[in-house]
Amino acid sequence: MDNCIFCKIANKEIPGNIVYENEDIIAFNDINPQAPVHILVIPKKHIESLNELADKNLAGELLDSVREICKKLNIKDYRTVINTGKEAGQEVFHIHLHILSGRPLKWPPG
Ligand code: 5GP
Ligand code: ZN
Repeated sequence: MDNCIFCKIANKEIPGNIVYENEDIIAFNDINPQAPVHILVIPKKHIESLNELADKNLAGELLDSVREICKKLNIKDYRTVINTGKEAGQEVFHIHLHILSGRPLKWPPG
């Protein structure tokens, strides 16, 4: 979609530090990491949020890719986060799953 920063990264129009890619999914390092490992996993297709993710196959692929990324990068303990909606902290309205790792993570989050 025009003006979507994550579509531009997916289309390689702007550089992202890509750590994983397959036909439907791309993953890259967060520009403002909140942990030593902070990866964003997105479908290449523009989908605004989890509320619009009606494609079961793609939903499964997102989680499959998390497993593959963590295996590939030897990430053992990690947190996955999907912020949905402004109040929940969603700032980019192209669905993305955060992978956070490399330091102790507190629970519950703020
Ligand atoms: P949200 O708050 O929407 O769940 O997460 C958006 C994330 O995208 C934030 O962690 C932010 O640092 C990251 N981000 C925003 N713009 C860019 C960008 O241009 N490149 C990369 N790699 N990450 C970005
Ligand atoms: Zn997009």
